Amino acid sequence: MPNSLDRFRPALNAAIQAAQTYLENLDEAPVGATADLATLRKQLRKDLTDDGLAPEQVISELARDVQGGLIATGGGRFYGWVIGGAVPAALGADILTSVWDQNCALYATSPAAAVAEEIAGDWLKEILGLPKRASFALVTGCQMAHTTCLAAARHALLAKMNWDVEERGLFGAPPIRILTSAMRHGTFERAIQYLGIGKAAVQYLDADDRDCLRADALERALQIGPAGPTIVLLQAGDVNIGAMDDFKTLIPIAKRHGAWVHVDGAFGLWAGANARYKHFLAGVESADSWATDGHKWLNVPFDCGYAFVANAESHRASMSHRASYMIHVGDARDELDWTLEWSRRARGFPTYAALRQLGRHGVADIVARCCEHAHTIVTGIGKLAGAELVWEPTINQGLVRFLDPKPGATDKDHDRRTDEVIAAITASGVAFFGGTTWRGKRAMRVSVSCWQTSAEDVAKTVSAVERILSEGRD
Ligand SMILES: *Cc1c(COP(=O)(O)O)cnc(C)c1O
Repeated sequence: MPNSLDRFRPALNAAIQAAQTYLENLDEAPVGATADLATLRKQLRKDLTDDGLAPEQVISELARDVQGGLIATGGGRFYGWVIGGAVPAALGADILTSVWDQNCALYATSPAAAVAEEIAGDWLKEILGLPKRASFALVTGCQMAHTTCLAAARHALLAKMNWDVEERGLFGAPPIRILTSAMRHGTFERAIQYLGIGKAAVQYLDADDRDCLRADALERALQIGPAGPTIVLLQAGDVNIGAMDDFKTLIPIAKRHGAWVHVDGAFGLWAGANARYKHFLAGVESADSWATDGHKWLNVPFDCGYAFVANAESHRASMSHRASYMIHVGDARDELDWTLEWSRRARGFPTYAALRQLGRHGVADIVARCCEHAHTIVTGIGKLAGAELVWEPTINQGLVRFLDPKPGATDKDHDRRTDEVIAAITASGVAFFGGTTWRGKRAMRVSVSCWQTSAEDVAKTVSAVERILSEGRD
C-alpha cells in the first residue's frame, strides 16, 4: 500500500527540482520578464482535460511554461516598487505551511499555528517598538492591515458617539472625516472605500519640502472642523522618497482633538529596527494603529502583512464573531477575533521563522544594508553624465532622472528620456527599476528592500546604467 509520501513524492520532487533550478539561476537570469503577453498565453494555455494528468508532469510543465514571465524580485537587482524577497528560513517555513495546510481561523483548528502566530505578534511589536498591549493581526498585506486598523478606528470613533457600527452599519451614522497628506498610498483610499466611509471623506492637507504633513495644516484643519469623528493618517515611509511624518509633533496635535491616528508603515516602520534610523520614527508608538508588511522589508514570502491596534478592545469588537459550532479554548488566541478572513493560511509560521533566523541584529542589518545600497545606487547613477540626482535616500528610497542631451530640451523631453532609460535598463536584464511622477516630473525610483542585494549587485547595476547612458553618445 502506498503511504501519503508515496502519493506526494513525484510532485514534491518535481517542485524541489524546479525550485533549485530557479534559485540556482536567480543571480544571472534577466531580472525583468523576457516573454510578452501573447507568448505567455501561448505557453500556459492548454486544453482543460477530462481526466487530468500526473502531478509531476503538471509541476514540471508549469515550471517550464512560466519561463520568461517571472520577475526576479527575490534576487539582488530588483529595485522596482517596494518588494522584498524571502530569507531562507521564511521560505522553508512557507513550504511547510503549504504541506501542513492548516486552517487558521481558531486555536482549535490548528493549535500550533495559533501559538506560533501569538509569539510572532509579540516579537513583531518588540522589534517595531510598538506598545506591548497592542493587539495584532496577520493579514495578506498592508492593504488588509489598513482595512483591519480602520475598522477598529471606525468602531472606536462611532462608539464614542453612541453608535454601534457593527450592528447598525454606517447608514445614518455621524460622518467620519479623514485627514492626511497627498503622500498616502492608494491602499489607504481602497480601505476607506471598502469600509463604507467613502473617499469623499478624505481631506488632503499640505506637505512640506520633505513630503511630510505640515503641523500647522493639521492643526488648522482640526480646529476649523467640522468637529466629529476624525482619523488622521500618517506616513512612515512613502514609496517615492521614504518620507516620514513627524510623529512626535503630529500625533499629540491629533490626540488633542480626539482624532484616531493611523500609521501607514508598510516598509518604513522597519527602519526603526535599526538604531541608526530609529530617530525617524520617534513618537510613532503613541499612534492608535499601525499597518506594515512582512513581505517587504522583513523578507517573508507573499502574502504577509501586519495590523496593530493600541486599543485591543476596539480591534476585537470590530472583527470578533461567535457561532455555536466554534470551539474556543481557555485563553488561547483565536485568529478570527482579529482578522477579516475566516479560513486562512498559517501565515504565522514564515514570520516566526524569519524572526528566528534573523534575530534583532539580522533585521537591523537588512535595514542598514538596504539603506546603504539605495544610497550608493542613487548617488552613483546621479553622478553619471546624462543623469540627475533627484532625491538622495534618507532610508531605502531615492529618485534619479535622465536628461535629454539635445540643445533646448524641455522637461517633457527629459520625462521621455527618463522613461526610455528605465525601459532600456529593464531590457538589459541586469536590473529592474520603476518609474514615477514626482512633483510633476518623471523620475526613476530606486527602492532597495531585498535581503539579497549585495555591493556587487550595486556595482553591476550602476555600470549597466552607465553603459546604457553612453550608448549612442559616441
Ligand atoms: C506596499 C505599500 C502598501 C501596500 O501594501 P500591500 O502589502 O501591497 O497591500 C501601502 N503603503 C505603502 C507605503 C507601501 O509601500
